[in-house]
Amino acid sequence: MKKIAIIGGGIVGATAAYLLSKEPGYAVTLFDQETGQATKAAAGIISPWLSKRRNQKWYALASDGAHFIAQLAQETGMSPQTYLQSGTIVTRKDPQALDALEALAHERRQSVPMMGKIERLTRTQIKERMPLVTADLQGVFISGGARIDGQRFVADLLKLSQQNGSQIWHEKVMLKNDQTVQTTHQDLTFDVILLCAGAGVNELLAPLGYEVTVHPQKGQLIELKVPTYPEDQYAPVLMPEGEKDFMPIGNGRLIIGATHENEPEFDLEFTQEAFDELVASAQRMDANIHKSDLLATRVGTRAFTDDFSPFFGWLPENSHVLVASGLGSSGLTTGPLVAKLMTTMLTQQTSYANYQKDIETYLHKKE
Ligand SMILES: Cc1cc2nc3c(=O)[nH]c(=O)nc-3n(C[C@H](O)[C@H](O)[C@H](O)COP(=O)(O)OP(=O)(O)OC[C@H]3O[C@@H](n4cnc5c(N)ncnc54)[C@H](O)[C@@H]3O)c2cc1C
Repeated sequence: MKKIAIIGGGIVGATAAYLLSKEPGYAVTLFDQETGQATKAAAGIISPWLSKRRNQKWYALASDGAHFIAQLAQETGMSPQTYLQSGTIVTRKDPQALDALEALAHERRQSVPMMGKIERLTRTQIKERMPLVTADLQGVFISGGARIDGQRFVADLLKLSQQNGSQIWHEKVMLKNDQTVQTTHQDLTFDVILLCAGAGVNELLAPLGYEVTVHPQKGQLIELKVPTYPEDQYAPVLMPEGEKDFMPIGNGRLIIGATHENEPEFDLEFTQEAFDELVASAQRMDANIHKSDLLATRVGTRAFTDDFSPFFGWLPENSHVLVASGLGSSGLTTGPLVAKLMTTMLTQQTSYANYQKDIETYLHKKE
């Protein structure tokens, strides 16, 4: 039996734990401190195809990631509250920009059948699909776009992993060396350690003498109470140009998110400033929203790199530690595939150069 430690129980760690728990020959122990987790706080939009980003490696990872997450949801029998192909609507104010967006969607659809049906929607058609919207919008609908509930997704995978024999410890741990995890009461030794700690990676790798260029970014979002309407639990996600994402999720709940704040770093306080910004954006989409409609707030810490790209693989000059981080604002989309590729690296020698730059771009051993 190979003893595997996983540090971090967000979407990367939980997926890795589930995948390894299905394989014979691995004994998995996952450690998670349960604070600041980006996965629990996330909005949950899985729709990378019309992103303005030009990074082709990121696009390949995100597009294949969207496909893998659908497979995983199907394989594990996740409920529609956890994973739903609701479709997504992306808007543009300028008609020419909308033409370009529609053309891009059709071009990308040729190599990504999962995108499904592509439709250009008028203001009236958007209102038919999203009765809450009062704004005058035009957009492109992609039926293959999805939304997930990160917290449920991870809980489902961890439960299955435990049923397959994995152990889960709820505490903060440190690395004593590249095979030893230091818990509050004891040191535990493993054959391989998977670091899936999001923005916590710098602190974990410092004692091993590695410098990592991963930065924390605060993200805040709100849930509002809205009137219910038939089929609201299947509503598409609205991604309005220049505004916050607008996600009715059924049962009179609407998610508005999210902020991107580089300054407050690991601070997990929900702020009045974020509330005002998020509500104002929501009101521009739905004029009937009031500040008093607040149901819940969420705050999480994203991990991002200087080029906003995720990375994963073996630590340079080491054969015991696999690491993944820097998933930024699209980590629910890329996370499960990153976990799958990481676990593949346990048995295959590859760096997945089609999906990422060399890992030494993001971390190196100090002289
Ligand atoms: C507000 C917000 C909205 C977002 N919306 C979307 C979206 O719509 N679509 C999308 O694709 N992505 C979205 N993201 C991004 C996405 O949530 C993240 O990129 C992704 O969840 C990162 O997953 P992870 O597993 O790498 O890290 P995390 O989810 O942060 O998990 C890391 C875990 O490691 C634990 N940990 C760290 N250090 C230690 C330690 N020393 N010991 C024990 N445990 C430790 C942490 O507590 C945490 O639980 C959003 C993020 C935020 C914050």
